[in-house]
Amino acid sequence: MTSLATAHDTVLVLNSGSSSVKYQLVDPVDGTPLASGLVERIGEDTGVVTHKHDGSVTKREQPIKNHTEALEVVLALFDEVGPNLAEAHIVAVGHRVVQGADVFAGPTLIDDQVQQDIAALSPLAPLHNPPNVEGIAVGRRLLAEVPHVAVFDTSFFRTLPPAAYTYALRKDVAEKYSVRRYGAHGTSHEFVSQEAARVLGRDAAELNTIVLHLGNGASASAVRGGVAVETSMGLTPLEGLVMGTRTGDIDPAVVFHLARNAGMDIEQIDHLFNKESGIKGLSGENDFRELHKLIAAGNEDAKLALDVYIHRLRKYIGAYFAVLGHVDVIAFTAGVGENDHVVRELVLEGLEPMGIEIDPAKNEPRSGDARIISTEQSRTTVMVVPTNEELAIARQVVDVISA
Ligand code: AMP
Repeated sequence: MTSLATAHDTVLVLNSGSSSVKYQLVDPVDGTPLASGLVERIGEDTGVVTHKHDGSVTKREQPIKNHTEALEVVLALFDEVGPNLAEAHIVAVGHRVVQGADVFAGPTLIDDQVQQDIAALSPLAPLHNPPNVEGIAVGRRLLAEVPHVAVFDTSFFRTLPPAAYTYALRKDVAEKYSVRRYGAHGTSHEFVSQEAARVLGRDAAELNTIVLHLGNGASASAVRGGVAVETSMGLTPLEGLVMGTRTGDIDPAVVFHLARNAGMDIEQIDHLFNKESGIKGLSGENDFRELHKLIAAGNEDAKLALDVYIHRLRKYIGAYFAVLGHVDVIAFTAGVGENDHVVRELVLEGLEPMGIEIDPAKNEPRSGDARIISTEQSRTTVMVVPTNEELAIARQVVDVISA
C-alpha cells in the first residue's frame, strides 16, 4: 500500500451483504488499494471491523446494529487511522449490485429512480439486492457530495444468446416473472478474461476463454472473443457449480420432494440450498484449507465433497469446450482457484487428449501474480489470474462519471 503523497483520484468501492460490508478505497488507474476492510456480523451481538491501511491492520469489536452504523464506523476509522477521506480525492462511490436483470445493461449513475429500480429487482435476488440497496441508501446519505454508481454482477452476461439464457419453462410464466438465466460474478469473469489476454500479450477479441471463478461462491463462464456466451449461474447465484455452502445444480424436483415429505417450507429449503449445502453440507467445512486437512486425516465425507466438487467442474469444462469449439485459455481465479493447486490439478487431470496439460512445477508454487501453469505443448493455455473485483468496479465507475 502507498500513502496519498502523490494523490490520484480514488473510488470508494462498497460491497454490502446481508450482515457484512466489504470496502476498498482504490486508485482506478494503477489499482493501488489505499485502504480496505470488512465489517462483519452486522445485527449480531458483536460486530467485527477490520480496516487495513499503509500496511497496518486495525480491528474493532463492537455491536453494529445496521448498515448505517457499519458505514459510520468505517468512516470514523478513515478519520482516525487514515487515509483522510477529505484528502483522498474520492471522485465517486461504486456499489456492487448482484442483480441488474434486463433493466440495467451496464454500470449506472444512481439517482432515486435507479435506487428504486434496483430495489424492485429484489424478487430476482432476494438474498443480495436488498442489502445492496441498503448499502446504496446509506452510502448516498453519508457520502452525499460525490456521485454513486451501481456496477452489476449480471452486466457481462447480457451477451448470452437466447439459447443459453432461456429456461425450458412455459413461456408465459417465464415472461411474466422474468424467469431466465442472468449469471453472476460478471465483473470478475470480465476482468479475468481481459487480464488473461493482457498477460499473454493478446487481444481478448482473438481468444476463446473458460473462466473458473472458484471462491466461496463459484461460477464458470465461456467467453468467445471477449464476449460472454455461457455461464453457470442462472436466475440466481444458486445454479451451476458446487460451492462453499450452495448446492449448485440440483434436480428441481428435490424442492417438491422436501416440501411434500420433509415438511419443509420454501424459506427453509431456500436456506438449506444456499447456506447449508455445497462443500459445507457434505463435509461440515466450507473452507478448502480445512477440507484438505479433513481429507488428510482420512475423513470420507470430506473426500466425497471434494470428489463431487471436482466432478461438477469437469462436466462444465467439457460442456464449455463444446460451446466454444476450441479453447485458447482456461483461467482459474478467486480464493480456491488462485490458491488451491490440488483442486486445479484434479480438475484438469487426464485431459491431455483434449489438449490440456498442466505443468506441476508451475502449478504448485504459490504466487500472487497472474501466471501460466500449463506446459509449452498444451494446446489450451492454463492460467491462474488473480481477480480484482474492486479495481474492475472502480474502472467501470470512472467510465460512467467521465462519460
Ligand atoms: P473468495 O470467495 O474468493 O474470497 O474465496 C474464499 C475461499 O477461498 C475460502 O472459503 C477457501 O475455501 C478458499 N481459500 C482461500 N485461501 C485458500 C488457500 N490458501 N488454499 C485453499 N483454499 C483457499
